[in-house]
Formats: sequence, structure tokens, C-alpha cells
Amino acid sequence: MKEIYLDNNATTRVDERVFEEMRPYFCELYGNPSSMHFFGGQVQKKVDEARSRVAALLGALPDEIVFTACGTESDNAAIRSALEVFPEKRHIITSRVEHPAVLTQCRNLTKRGYRVTELNVDGNGQLDLKELEAALDDDTVIVSLMYANNETGVIFPIEEAAKMVKAKGALFHTDAVQAVGKIPLNMAESAIDLLSLSGHKLHAPKGVGVLYVRRGTPFRPLLVGGHQERGRRAGTENTASIIAMGKACELAHLHMPEEAGRVREMRDRLERELTALIPNTRINGGGTNRLPNTLSIAMEFVEGEGILLLLSEKGICASSGSACTSGSLEPSHVLRAMGVPFTCAHGSIRFSLSRFTTDAEIDAVIKELPPIISRLRQMSPFGREFLNK
Ligand code: PLP
Repeated sequence: MKEIYLDNNATTRVDERVFEEMRPYFCELYGNPSSMHFFGGQVQKKVDEARSRVAALLGALPDEIVFTACGTESDNAAIRSALEVFPEKRHIITSRVEHPAVLTQCRNLTKRGYRVTELNVDGNGQLDLKELEAALDDDTVIVSLMYANNETGVIFPIEEAAKMVKAKGALFHTDAVQAVGKIPLNMAESAIDLLSLSGHKLHAPKGVGVLYVRRGTPFRPLLVGGHQERGRRAGTENTASIIAMGKACELAHLHMPEEAGRVREMRDRLERELTALIPNTRINGGGTNRLPNTLSIAMEFVEGEGILLLLSEKGICASSGSACTSGSLEPSHVLRAMGVPFTCAHGSIRFSLSRFTTDAEIDAVIKELPPIISRLRQMSPFGREFLNK
């Protein structure tokens, strides 16, 4: 069965052009970029080119780009660095809907005596900047807010938030793992100090990430050892993946406007048709600014896991808004923070599209999902009650 892959916020297919770019750096050009000889030097040149390509996508300077192993490492490195640079400050601000790479870290820090404010979101998953302003104080060391949410695609007003935070003298970090390559960012005109991205969300392989560190931002490395990455991240570079990351960023930079428009049209059609064909649905984050590729749709009186399994039987890959914790299916922390009613949160499904998504794949979901939902509603006592009304 050929898969219909609509789970691109989980991970993306490596673009063949990216794969071709990285291929020679395993068996042929395998030198260490730190070596003095010509063989290492030619790899160093390609790593430098990759750095410039990432910088171009972000509107950044090449020396502001630090290669890491993943988005999670970039998030951890950003927050840890701030705490080391300003040891006297003990207050961190984040939001309730962050990825665990930020949220778990912040919650763990409360056990070490840090005060952590988790900002609320409204029913659309949107931030209230007044709450941020009220939370900031002289003790705030870093504010970490995601650019776009991985579950709903909701885009936070990051530039306004960053300006507010800088005016208070704290550092500002954003987890832009889901935003980079989908919407334009320009660090040259931004107040952001630190920004995380991840290769496997933009058609590069898993196991490579980037931390953008604005020139002049004080920084302490998470990994210490060799002098790689100008002392900001020790460890021999994952050269093939870094080169792949550079190519992926170049492709995103060249094609984003056209691709994002096409993807948005397909996402909007999927949303329109599904809400017309399936009664009692709502779009999580539907009333605010969202990524062009993400659709989180809540369907009452059904369970996400049931939907996913039946979709999977038809070859359709999506993801649910629940997390399996100790055997019970809890709605995700994001949907809970948004106050999505229990009956909807359980039946929330995320479809996330990419440059490889086709109209035929969208047609297949529009055809297959409505009968799956009515079948599941027939099977559930709440669903039957609702259908018999
Ligand atoms: N931040 C966000 C918003 C994500 O969606 C993810 C991955 O799902 C991460 C961080 C972690 O990135 P990585 O898988 O590269 O560690």
C-alpha cells in the first residue's frame, strides 16, 4: 500500500536533492573539517556553505548559526546558556503549549529553585501579550515562546513579544522548529536573541538542528570539549547532515512563497470539505493566524486513536491530539490549555502537509474520513445518542 503521508509536523521525507547533496560526504569526502590537510579543508568549505545557506533563509549572518544534533538540543542549549550567563536571575517565562523540549526543561528547573511562569492561551491557542508584560520582572532571565505550535499550527506574535522582553532586559528565545521553511523569518529585522530549528521538519535528515545566536548575545555552550562551532558546540560535526541542512534551507528559501501558497490551498480545501461533510466539528486554532500546512480538526463523540487506526488501514498517516499516559488517553497538553471541550479534544486529528502533498491525496482523505467518523459514532454510546437526536 502506498502511504498518503499527512504527518509532516512529526517528520518529513528527505528531499532527493538534499540526499544527493549529502551523499558524497559518507564514503568519499569523509574528512574531518577541523583537519589541517586539503581533505578536511574541502569538507570545511561545504560546512561553511551550509552555514551561509541556513543564514540566508533566516536573514541572519553565517557566524550566528550554530549546528546542533536536533531541535531539542537547540532548545535546551538556549535556556541553559541564559541561566549560566545570568546566574543571579531566577525567573523563566514560557507558555503552557510549548513542545516538551522546552516545557519539561522549565518544569525540571522549578526543582532547582527557579520560578517558572507558564503563560496561558485562549480558546484559539493564542497568547495574550498583556499577560507576558505583567509576568516580566527584573528577575526574568529568559523568555522562551514557540514561533508556531506543532499541534495546531497557531503562530504566536513573536516579534512583538521579543521587543517587549528586550525592553525589560531579559533574553528572548523562540522554538521555531515548526515555522522555519513554512513562513518567512528575518533575523536582520528581529529582536529575537536565540532561535531553534530542526532539519527533519524541513526535508533534511533526522539528527541535525541549528541554534541561531544573535551576534553579541552572551552564550555558554551546553556541550564542552573541542573548539568546533567557534566554541559554541563541541563535538565533531555531523558533516553530511549539516550539508543536507544547508541544501534543505536553500530549497526552502528559493521555493517557499510558491510552495506555501499551494500547500495552503490544499489545507483550506481539506478543512472546508471535512467541516461540510462531517457534522459537529471544530478547527482547533481556526480563529487565529496559523501555519499554512497544519489542520487540527476536532470531531465530537469519537476517539482519535480509533480514527487514526481506520485511516491507517486506508494508508493515510495523520496524528492525534491525545497522549497515552499510564494507559489512559489524555487529551494533549496543548488542547487542554486551549480549553477544548473533552468531547472534542479526544476526537482531534492533525493533518500536516508538505511540498510533496498532492491534490489526489487530499481527495482520498475527503473520501475516506467522513464514513470512518459515522462508523465510529455508531459504535460509541455517546455517538449513537448524538446520531439519534
Ligand atoms: N519543538 C517543536 C515545536 C517540535 O515540533 C519538535 C519536534 O516535534 C521539537 C521541538 C523537537 O525537535 P527534534 O525532534 O529535532 O528534537
